[in-house]
Amino acid sequence: MSSRATPSRRRRRTRAATGALAAATLLTLAACSSSGDTDAAAETGDCPTAPVDVVVSVDQWGDLVSRLGGDCTHVTTVIASSSVDPHDYEPTPADAGKFVKADLVVVNGADYDPWASKLAASAAKGAAVLDAGQVVGAADGANPHLWYSPDDVARVSDAVTRELETLSPDAKDYLEQQRAALTKDLAPYTDLVAKLKTEAAGRTYGATEGVFDYMAQAVGLVDKTPAGFARAAANESDPSPADLKAFQDALAGHEIDVLIDNTQTEGSIPEQVRHTAEQAGVPVVEVTETVAPGASSFEDWQVSQLTELAKALGVDA
Ligand SMILES: [Zn+2]
Repeated sequence: MSSRATPSRRRRRTRAATGALAAATLLTLAACSSSGDTDAAAETGDCPTAPVDVVVSVDQWGDLVSRLGGDCTHVTTVIASSSVDPHDYEPTPADAGKFVKADLVVVNGADYDPWASKLAASAAKGAAVLDAGQVVGAADGANPHLWYSPDDVARVSDAVTRELETLSPDAKDYLEQQRAALTKDLAPYTDLVAKLKTEAAGRTYGATEGVFDYMAQAVGLVDKTPAGFARAAANESDPSPADLKAFQDALAGHEIDVLIDNTQTEGSIPEQVRHTAEQAGVPVVEVTETVAPGASSFEDWQVSQLTELAKALGVDA
């Protein structure tokens, strides 16, 4: 394990007002997706069979799973607030209770949410478990931010549909329609990724941490973050003064076209990097680990960040 002694970087709660708003919004969403009297649900919804209970560990996947399942699922998302850091999450007894009725548990895996896999094994015995990391071949130790990879989003979505079809074979047609509808809904996101790839590939970026790296790769950006700095960020430790200086020199010397800043981390190191970028006139694009407060859907969240990236790189989006 890495040393966690007094790092200058730590993940933070988002500002109170936006955090509360996000919690309220997500509670509303959660209430909608999991409400309804179970006995009547099969008759009132479009699902041709009784819905299955699905527990999703984190909201980065929760919205996608809800839409893939539609009326054929009751989805409960455990971490549905941007004021909670999924990396260091400790489940509550109430969280364990959410797993008890689950037919399917969806976890990110890649050691991002090990608590959820443990609860699935202990509290949801007999439930199917879909591990996104296993689906895409991301082992423990890999960059776990799989929802930032457009390819992984598609592959995990396909796997969720297959799993739901296994649990509800009579709902196959309905579930296929839901999968196709999601692809259509994601078009603004996939189109923007394609446009950036065409027009911005080869441009350079640096990042205060690696949350956005899969997306940066997907659009062909070249990572100029000093390797030692990136490694320290991934371990929640401090970079060496030499790595910090190398990063700041690269920004000041305009070797980096855009700085990607995860606003859900705080600390003097990311602040110094950001300050250097601002001083040098290098555009800063803000991204978040979890679904941004106020975003109405996964693609709404991603498109707004990608639009900012396009602007920063002078791509007409
Ligand atoms: Zn993270």
